[in-house]
Amino acid sequence: MKITYSIIAPIYNELDNLSELHRRLHEVMDATRQPWELILVDDGSTDGSTEKIRELARVDKRVRPVIFARNFGHQIAITAGWDYARGAAVVIIDADLQDPPEVILDLAKKWKEGYEVVYAVRAEREGESWFKKFTASMFYRIIYRITDVKIPVDTGDFRLMDRKVVDVLKQMPERHRFPRGMSAWVGFKQIGVEYKRAARHSGVTKYPFRKMLKLALNAITSFSYFPLQVATFFGFFSAGISILAIPIVIYMRIMGSGAFFGQATTLIAVLFLGGVQLISLGILGEYIGRLYDEAKGRPLYIVRDAPNSSDQNEGG
Ligand code: UDP
Ligand code: MG
Repeated sequence: MKITYSIIAPIYNELDNLSELHRRLHEVMDATRQPWELILVDDGSTDGSTEKIRELARVDKRVRPVIFARNFGHQIAITAGWDYARGAAVVIIDADLQDPPEVILDLAKKWKEGYEVVYAVRAEREGESWFKKFTASMFYRIIYRITDVKIPVDTGDFRLMDRKVVDVLKQMPERHRFPRGMSAWVGFKQIGVEYKRAARHSGVTKYPFRKMLKLALNAITSFSYFPLQVATFFGFFSAGISILAIPIVIYMRIMGSGAFFGQATTLIAVLFLGGVQLISLGILGEYIGRLYDEAKGRPLYIVRDAPNSSDQNEGG
């Protein structure tokens, strides 16, 4: 049977959300009267989610788990979902029910109108801290400004993509991935649909500030040279100042001014330049480290097993 909709949900310790996720998706997807499958990518859960996923797969053959050998991260889990999905349309959804499954019907409507990427835009966010909303909002706007791809703001990974798009994405082997950026980069006919992002059904966020920062770094380095150019800018800036300053200082010394005596001025100049140089080195390091990771060419993820997918390709 040909599958119309593949729903991909990455799972990292979402035990108390799984039954409800399955129930609500069931309700929504049955309303489409089309064949569908649910790909639950278990990203190294340690709270018993893995057993729960296996149990769901036993009672419902449409549930096709992909069980990772360890935690590889949200973005990689989505990637594995792309590799296993067989549907004509592929939907990515969070497992914590912050993305209401009912919105899938709105996404599908646009897909039927001929759009190939339909992304869900967060018009409102419920039940998240002031800090989370503020940093998220900053994140989307900075990324929009400095990357070369126009990645829609206030848009997470919740989206529907046509088979054509997913087949292209599967050919992008990059390690440090930013799926929302990748799906904007490929082009095709894209459109946003607004929705109200709900509060988490249960459990806590798996994105502490540290992980958000890492995601932001991946997004920026994957889609922009801007940080490298900042180093060049600072170089020209401080060189410019010193070229202006040299004749002024010489002139003042000849005229007998003592304004530039003392170590403080020298020290400040050395510290400033030293700082700029170290930061530039650090930025270079970020890019080189990523190059190194790419060069190693390790598989993106390791699958322990994938019940209900015996005929499927292996990962990475
Ligand atoms: N997730 C994952 N691997 C991770 C972290 C998160 O698969 O290392 C999943 C998580 O289970 C959830 C989705 O990614 O389904 C989004 O995570 P979360 O809800 O914690 O992020 P937030 O909505 O707070 O930004
Ligand atoms: Mg969430």
